[in-house]
Amino acid sequence: MTTDLPTLSDQQIVNLRPDRNSVDPSKPYAFMVEDECSASGELTKVATLFLTSSECAFRCTMCDLWKNTLEQPVESGAIGKQIRWALNELEIDLAAPQRQGISTIKLYNSGNFFDNRAVPRNDWPEIIELVAGFESVIVENHPKLCKQNCLEFKSLLAGRLEIAMGLETVHPQVSRWLNKQMCLEDFQEATQRLISHDINVRAFVLLRPPFLTEQEGVYWATKTMEYAFDCGVECCSLVPVRGGNGVLDQLQKRGEFTPPNLKSMESTLVAGLHMNRGRILMDLWDVERFVTCHRCARDRQNRILQMNQTQTVIQGDECGNCG
Ligand code: SF4
Ligand SMILES: [Zn+2]
Repeated sequence: MTTDLPTLSDQQIVNLRPDRNSVDPSKPYAFMVEDECSASGELTKVATLFLTSSECAFRCTMCDLWKNTLEQPVESGAIGKQIRWALNELEIDLAAPQRQGISTIKLYNSGNFFDNRAVPRNDWPEIIELVAGFESVIVENHPKLCKQNCLEFKSLLAGRLEIAMGLETVHPQVSRWLNKQMCLEDFQEATQRLISHDINVRAFVLLRPPFLTEQEGVYWATKTMEYAFDCGVECCSLVPVRGGNGVLDQLQKRGEFTPPNLKSMESTLVAGLHMNRGRILMDLWDVERFVTCHRCARDRQNRILQMNQTQTVIQGDECGNCG
């Protein structure tokens, strides 16, 4: 692909959207305790909260996170209430979560933690108090919004801060088409600024965005992981691209987008682990969507899960059906 892809304006992207889900501003829209391999290689428990907050200011073409957001700014005090409510539902002892084996809390807000509309700064003291018992706190944020406020938040935290940022893809044309309003240098600068202040960075990496074949999808996800590690990230979180946000559905109808299959998810994870440069985690949310061969699906899912948890390559037998 050598020519630029036709870009869409923010308004065109919004016009193609299906309806958003109805969400309750007093509760996270999802929450769970999950197993995740830590940076030091141990399998740890992570309290993951998908906070209900206000919609991200960006309009990336592949994004569907807006579906579970509010159109108006979050009310002051609501984020603290949501965290308290979810931790209570999960029966996590705020004073000593680590005694329950839960060392980390993820506060994902379907956007940018350091956007005042989504997480009001006035709420920081309460949030910091609520997460004080965790060894590390992970939030998500756009590279362009990683300024002084991240460093200030980090200086107030008792535990370690990790910021997850979307690098998405280093494919030049697809990267521009994503409408992410950033270039690769923005990602690199933000990463270097954060790590120089002792903040860990994880990168979201897309597996098979539109306009790529299955093989190209794996190739570019691998190149993107390499770039992320060159920038200094400690962990790459691989996200297989799903339809359902309007833009991608339109492209899928035109044959310009096909979600990746489970086999590519496995081989991309293996390629990342072979680099041996940091953690690689494959997102298994809604994994059934990516099944194209029922003969090997269960084995592949199990191997992906095991590789996520152990960070070691597990070789499987060739499938007689899909190869
Ligand atoms: S920056 Fe993240 S949350 Fe915002 S539109 Fe892009 S992908 Fe979605
Ligand atoms: Zn198969």
